[in-house]
Amino acid sequence: MGKVLYIDYERCIGCKACVIGCEECSGHDHLSRMFVDELSPGETVATSPTPCMHCKTPACAESCPVQAISIAPDGTVLSASLEKCIGCKNCTYACPFGIPKVDDVKNVMYKCDMCYDRTSKGRPPMCASVCPTDTIRFVDEEEIKYDSPKPVQYKWDFGGTIIETRTVIGLPDTETHRFGYWESEGVQKHNE
Ligand code: SF4
Ligand code: SF4
Repeated sequence: MGKVLYIDYERCIGCKACVIGCEECSGHDHLSRMFVDELSPGETVATSPTPCMHCKTPACAESCPVQAISIAPDGTVLSASLEKCIGCKNCTYACPFGIPKVDDVKNVMYKCDMCYDRTSKGRPPMCASVCPTDTIRFVDEEEIKYDSPKPVQYKWDFGGTIIETRTVIGLPDTETHRFGYWESEGVQKHNE
């Protein structure tokens, strides 16, 4: 098992440092492949960062008619090859998480490649490097799936089709209701 992206939505403060970091990543043409969504504007300030989920069986790659989307040896689902992509948008329709985008000017798809130039050498992706609250972390897959201090989700049920992802989500801690920073980290926002 290798390293995966771990996202703990409860820690996100919506600062969008991950978006800026992604834009600055070399090879990204200043287009962010990370999105930060406002969950219920007007009701809550809750926000969530959304990178590619790096599915173990990626619908984007399977639906591409020209095999432009390749999967790296460690399972990272790469962005479409500039040489092969024909901009047909099949991947955008196939992805259940709405991740790939197509640059209509260049007629080419772009999406999060987990900063493969960095992560293939063991370095964290830009988004994880710059996130000030540790919402996004690049961690050992085994450690987070089986030893996480809170429940995690990495399997998704889309109408009976189960999709397993390499991006792992930390679920809200509904037992202790401890949000934000933990006590051991100096600032505690206890909600009990
Ligand atoms: S989340 Fe979408 S773009 Fe990412 S690997 Fe899965 S199907 Fe492909
Ligand atoms: S992992 Fe890299 S490519 Fe993916 S969103 Fe983060 S910075 Fe962008």
